Formats: sequence, C-alpha cells, structure tokens
Amino acid sequence: MGRKFKKKLCQICKQKGLRKESVIYMKEHRLALCKEHFIEWFEKRVKETIKEFKMFSPSEKVLVAVSGGKDSQTLWYVLNKLGYNADGFFINLGIGDYSEESLQKVKELGKILGKEPYIVDLKEKVGAPLPVLKNFVLGTACSVCGRIKRYHFNKIARELGYRVVATGHNLDDESSSLLANLINWNLKYLARKYPVLPEEKGFPRKVKPLVKLTEEQIKTYADLVGVPYTNRSCPLGDTANLHFYKHLMEEIENHARGTKYRFYFEFLKKVFPIFNTLKEELVEGELQKCKICGEPSPSEICFVCRLKERLQKKETH
Ligand SMILES: [Zn+2]
Ligand SMILES: [Zn+2]
Repeated sequence: MGRKFKKKLCQICKQKGLRKESVIYMKEHRLALCKEHFIEWFEKRVKETIKEFKMFSPSEKVLVAVSGGKDSQTLWYVLNKLGYNADGFFINLGIGDYSEESLQKVKELGKILGKEPYIVDLKEKVGAPLPVLKNFVLGTACSVCGRIKRYHFNKIARELGYRVVATGHNLDDESSSLLANLINWNLKYLARKYPVLPEEKGFPRKVKPLVKLTEEQIKTYADLVGVPYTNRSCPLGDTANLHFYKHLMEEIENHARGTKYRFYFEFLKKVFPIFNTLKEELVEGELQKCKICGEPSPSEICFVCRLKERLQKKETH
C-alpha cells in the first residue's frame, strides 16, 4: 500500500524506555497510548471530572440511565470499576428488535458487574410501547421519548432512594448541542447546560461524568475492556439535525484541534454563570404536584398522566 504507515509508540512506555505500540492517538492532547496506559488515562479522567464538578461522593448511590449503547454502558461499567456504588436503570421502550437487543446488552453488563439492572417496561407502566404512544402526542418521537424517560428516571430514583442520576453524555454530544442551541439562541436550554444540575423541586441531582471524553475515546475504552453494547441506533429517531451539528463540530475541530473541548469548557467557565443567574426567569416557572401521580409538573396533570388518559380514550393526534 504505497505509503508506509507506522503506528505511533505509547508515550508513557517510551519514557520508561519501553517500545509499545499505541492503541489510540489523541490529536487534541498530542498523546499516543498503549492499551494499559489508555485504560488508566480514561479512568483517571472520569474520576477527575466527578471530583472537579463535585458530582457525587463514593458513599452516594448513583442510578445510571442505561440505554444499551456504548456511552451509558461504559459509564455504568467505569463507575463500578472506580469503586462507586452505581446501579443501572433501563426503560424498555418496546421498539422491536432495537429494544430487545438493547435490553440484552444491559443484562449482559449487569452479569459482568454482578448487579441486577432495574427495568421498567413502558407497555406496563404507561399502557403502550413508544411506536404507539408517539401517535398520541404532538412532537417528534424523540421529544416524547425524552419526556417519558425523564419522568420515569425521576420517579424511580426517588422511589428507590437514589439522589443522583447519571447519564452517558460525552464531549461530542455536549459541544455539538451547545453549538446548535447557541445558533438558535435557545436560552432556556443554555441555562441548564452544565454537567451537574443540583437536586431541586423533587428532582434528583443530574450528572454527566463522561463530558471530558469523546465518542472515539469511549468506544476505544469499551472495546478494550469488553463492555457489551449495541451499535444500533433507534429506528424512530430523527437524528439528521444532531448529526449535522456533530459533523460541523468535527470540521471545526479538524481546522483547529482542541476547539471542541475549549468551546464547551470555556462556556462552562465564562458564560454559563451569567445564564445561571437568569435561570429562574428562563426555566419554566413554578412546579406543582400532579393531581393523579404526585410527580412534579408545570401543569395540574403531568405529561405522562395526560398521555395515559388519551390512550384510554384513544384520542390520537
Ligand atoms: Zn504504555
Ligand atoms: Zn402524573
């Protein structure tokens, strides 16, 4: 093949006078690492993020929202590896083979960790799987799904006594959604764009311990340590917009390496505090208790209870 490609050597091994091939080269850090040193680097980075943002302490129970995909599976795995008390929680959305395979991967990882995941079945809890439910509300399948998931994460976390819920959002997710929301001046969203949201108004603390890691780094780690995950993406999801902004962010990163990280973390440091002072005005007003289920809701009856009612009356949109 014309050009000779030589794999870079692990820089940490090199310092010790050893020659070991690297498994990853991270351009933005100008760092090539072997399997052993990359695993060490990755885990240290997660630990640092948890400490830096005061996400949770080793004595707190953490509920990890797992979807079966690489990010949330890796999160559940690495938190346990680091000695945290993290349990997995999966919502079976009932989206055919996609949900089946996702559930299998969650159970597989549960076996590896010696932990039984909590599983909520949407059909049982709300009355129908997502492909049916989405016909009963306005909005995209993703927005309906997001609201239903948030409702159940909050509810289950409280019922089971977890004050912290962790999600697998990575640096690519966070930087590209920041870009999209800035371009659209979505202030309400920007006021909540932080890797830790405090416990408030009946909601658990929300944390994102993988925000300093890219998709590529997470996938490399998952494959090296053998975290099971599904590569499928949800067949209902309209991800064109999401992919557009991720691609755009990647283009900017290729133009000036390190931009992705700087863009997001400088926002957290310099701009977020300003939005945060406006939070009360920007984020929806008073919450009340839903008259039917008692969950916090901006209206008398919450989104999920209204959905159940419509489902019973077969009021589709
Ligand atoms: Zn090494
Ligand atoms: Zn309700």
